[in-house]
Amino acid sequence: MSRQEIEYFGIPIEFELTRKQVKNINIRINEEGIISVSAGKSVPVEDIRAFVESRAEWIIRNLADLERYNSAKPDNDIYNGKKLYILGNVYTARVEEAKKDRVEVEDGIVTVYTKDTEDSERMIKTYKKWLVGVAEPIFQQLLEKVHKQLEGEGIPMPEMHIRNMKTRWGSCKVSDKVVTLNLQLIKNDIACIEQVVLHELLHFVQPNHGEEFYVLLEKYMPDWKERKQHLEEKCKDGIF
Ligand SMILES: [Zn+2]
Repeated sequence: MSRQEIEYFGIPIEFELTRKQVKNINIRINEEGIISVSAGKSVPVEDIRAFVESRAEWIIRNLADLERYNSAKPDNDIYNGKKLYILGNVYTARVEEAKKDRVEVEDGIVTVYTKDTEDSERMIKTYKKWLVGVAEPIFQQLLEKVHKQLEGEGIPMPEMHIRNMKTRWGSCKVSDKVVTLNLQLIKNDIACIEQVVLHELLHFVQPNHGEEFYVLLEKYMPDWKERKQHLEEKCKDGIF
């Protein structure tokens, strides 16, 4: 296989060329937008490049559609090079086959070791399990810290649950004394997570989002709005 690049009106088109026993020149674009071209051994490279150029508009249109498609669907997958956010920092995912499923972090690389590198469900499960282990002590510490700040409000110390949720950052069940935090929060920095923890704890004082609720929120965290906005920006791209 060799890597080739042509330019079409200034747009670079990179493709992988494989020599096969085929009659025609074939172009394929996979889900990740990688362009593969196969051609017989005797076809000159120049002819192949010319052929790709003749199909450039079709290629560009397909890549654009693919990008629209990929940005529309939640990116619930782990693969080499995928960006992963943990506590506001960006990491690059690496997938490696191993006897034991586990996750290791070093120098900005999150390596997901897995028995089956084709099984994305399995890798997500391994990663999520690891991520819960990362999130748990951090969320718990924040809960205790914020709970202490609210001493004067007479709030009971709630039990904390972590769940992966699609539509909300947290929830609060006053009658059961339970605060549930979204695992997705671990993508954000501490300041943002803290805002959610405070929000949920304040529901023990004010169950609804009435005016009084926001008076309390302002009182304990004057910059809660900026923190919340930041939260929404970081999490807009996919589940993990
Ligand atoms: Zn609320």
